[in-house]
Amino acid sequence: RRAEFAAMRDLPAQTKDGLRIELMVNAGLRDDMAALDVTGADGVGLFRTEFQFLVSATLPQRERQQRLYREVLEAAGDRPVIFRTVDIGGDKALPYLNTDDEADEENPALGWRAIRLGLERDALMKVQARALIEAAAGRTLSVMFPMVSEPWEYDEAVALFEAQRKWIHDHGRGVPNAIRYGTMLEVPALAESLDMILPKLDFLSIGTNDLTQFLFAADRANPKLAERYDWLSPAILRFLGRVTRQACEANVPVGVCGEMGGRPLEAMALIGLGIGRLSITPAAIGPVKAMIRSLDAAALRERMADFLSRPLRSLRADLSAWADSNGV
Ligand code: PEP
Ligand code: MG
Repeated sequence: RRAEFAAMRDLPAQTKDGLRIELMVNAGLRDDMAALDVTGADGVGLFRTEFQFLVSATLPQRERQQRLYREVLEAAGDRPVIFRTVDIGGDKALPYLNTDDEADEENPALGWRAIRLGLERDALMKVQARALIEAAAGRTLSVMFPMVSEPWEYDEAVALFEAQRKWIHDHGRGVPNAIRYGTMLEVPALAESLDMILPKLDFLSIGTNDLTQFLFAADRANPKLAERYDWLSPAILRFLGRVTRQACEANVPVGVCGEMGGRPLEAMALIGLGIGRLSITPAAIGPVKAMIRSLDAAALRERMADFLSRPLRSLRADLSAWADSNGV
């Protein structure tokens, strides 16, 4: 079906009933940006900035970070790029970072990582903020923060960025026309504070990789658990449905940037729940776009409450049967 997917490159990711879904790619390195033109995606919904740190033998200094971000923005042209601040620490430990105080965590996935490390080691985050802000001078910068568990973490991260913006501006250098801030939702606790954080967000991005591992208390890297819980289980879909409804009511665009969105049946379920943006691995753009273009979103949304009330371990068979009988 390769040729069929290639032929859809320039067609919009729009459902049969006219709902436009934003279909974006996940990226992390300069070379990943070629995927935008190859796939015809709408932009980069998740740029994992820690990749540059992970492939470097030494801590990337500001100039190197800034060069990467500028190249990424140039490659994207007028398509949006959402940069996620570094998600390092825990299992993505950096050998060149002084690790005295982060050594030997018993549960690195639940450890001192991402925004937790970023706010405490704020020199690292200030450098990154400055690199991003200067790289995006004269354009819109979109930033999001990983592993936010409570609204105050988001507030502190935004304040750090705003202080850098002011500093750069006061020193007569160019700053972005606008900075759009958002957060990942991948720690379940944040869902309990959504009403407090939504008014401050320009967008919300659900990271289903970590979210499902935390929701089910099941290590995402443990092969013994890989088959045990399904992304199409009622628990996950109900959770995502509730978050999506709240975000939509607050007029905050909500997307999914975990691997779940790259599988056509899962992506179909997400659209059924009201998700309007998927950021996925580039190879999945073709199959997911084909699914979107054959879907009647309104018909599916009408059925979702019924599916979600079924006390099954997984709704995969039911959703798959619906897809088959509806030409998806
Ligand atoms: C996620 O957790 O779903 C996610 C997109 O981030 P990462 O896979 O980089 O942890
Ligand atoms: Mg994550």
